[in-house]
Amino acid sequence: MPITLPKLPYALDALEPHLSRETLEFHYGKHHRKYVDTANQLIAGTELEGLALEDMVQRATGKVFNNVAQAWNHAFFWKCLTPRPQKPERELQHALERSFGDLEVFRQRFTQSAQDVFGSGWAWLVMNDDGSLEIATTRNGDTPLTDGRLTLLACDLWEHAYYIDYRNDRAKYLQHFWPLVNWEFVAENLGTAAPTARPGRHGVAVQPRPR
Ligand code: FE
Repeated sequence: MPITLPKLPYALDALEPHLSRETLEFHYGKHHRKYVDTANQLIAGTELEGLALEDMVQRATGKVFNNVAQAWNHAFFWKCLTPRPQKPERELQHALERSFGDLEVFRQRFTQSAQDVFGSGWAWLVMNDDGSLEIATTRNGDTPLTDGRLTLLACDLWEHAYYIDYRNDRAKYLQHFWPLVNWEFVAENLGTAAPTARPGRHGVAVQPRPR
């Protein structure tokens, strides 16, 4: 079965004024769609066809990996955003405090890490095997999914994520990222990442990808 472009969980203009309709039309409607379409062309007739997207990400290499990973990264990213302002619920708040001291320190460190990514990439909140939370960054289409770490939150740092609204000002984009964070989704990921449920947030065993 081909990879499908997941439906956005909100309207194209729902994230305004932080992210414009035009940004979502391009980012979701053109960039994300293109990764999905290209991935489908590349996997057609290969052993990857028919696998779950997460499994494709684990197994693919090269150009195929770039496109399937970006298809997964974006599907995850859209769920990290919401037009309904939220705060982290208690368990998540405590987990963030245990790992970072407090929510504000986490936000500052995540923002700084995102700011420091040179070129295209992603910033992530991930959960390690010992249950600690950590900020990670990846280049281009790389994703923590292949490191066996569970992903809780993502921020797309490619210029296509912010150039229409904020031109080259990534810092401004990051300021506007925080009011959109879907903490419920982050908490959901944390909840299903509990030791008894591991591995399986995505219904697949997550194994490190051979390099
Ligand atoms: Fe993107």
